[in-house]
Amino acid sequence: MAGFLGVAIADLLWPPVCAVCPRPLPLVDDGLNLSAHFCPECLATVEIPSAACRLCGRPLAGVGEHVCGDCLVSPPPYAGARSAALHQGAVAHSISLLKYYGQLRQLKALSALGLSALARPGFSHDFDLVVPMPLSAKRQAERGFNQTFELARRLFADRPELVNVRLLQRSRDEGLHQASLAAAQRRRAIRGHFQVAAPETVRGARLLLFDDVMTTGATAGEAARVLLKAGAAEVRVFTISRTRRHFW
Ligand SMILES: [Zn+2]
Ligand SMILES: [Zn+2]
Repeated sequence: MAGFLGVAIADLLWPPVCAVCPRPLPLVDDGLNLSAHFCPECLATVEIPSAACRLCGRPLAGVGEHVCGDCLVSPPPYAGARSAALHQGAVAHSISLLKYYGQLRQLKALSALGLSALARPGFSHDFDLVVPMPLSAKRQAERGFNQTFELARRLFADRPELVNVRLLQRSRDEGLHQASLAAAQRRRAIRGHFQVAAPETVRGARLLLFDDVMTTGATAGEAARVLLKAGAAEVRVFTISRTRRHFW
């Protein structure tokens, strides 16, 4: 009761505002409803593609699942990729505020978005472990936290034993100019960045590789390749957002 009263008084003094702009929120609760995190204007920028490639998750025209032309020619190492929303508007802003401004408040908004995607029909929950995309030790020290681990902890709060942050390690972060490289160059540029720290845990396991953003697919592809080489039975990818353009 005291906690509830505390929250009620705080709401009177500081009415809750949108996670990414100063507008007030129409809905005051801390739940999964995205209206409790984003104002109607910002929520209107959250776009979930109606169709996606069954393998790379690239947004496609139409409805349902297909395999895109690129994956028919050169399928990615992972068995499938899913994202909660397109990387644009409020979602892209929220992720930047979390990563580059350390706004931990965004964890609530982004995990609500992630949880809504995990609850969608057709999302496969057939995995044994969740592997948050690691940061290099240098990047983690600069940022002070790994956003993928913080989000994964919230997405799988009911089964915390699933989230394994020590299984995969990263010795380097890719260069800033990754998007300007051709696909084959990107894949080469990121070779050797990941190491499996616990091969005995990876062997035979079905893994859900979790990242905040999927841009080129090269990072997820290389992490999946290394995990499969170490004996993982399957790697699927899940991200909060993905860019509309596909690069794999
Ligand atoms: Zn807003
Ligand atoms: Zn595809």
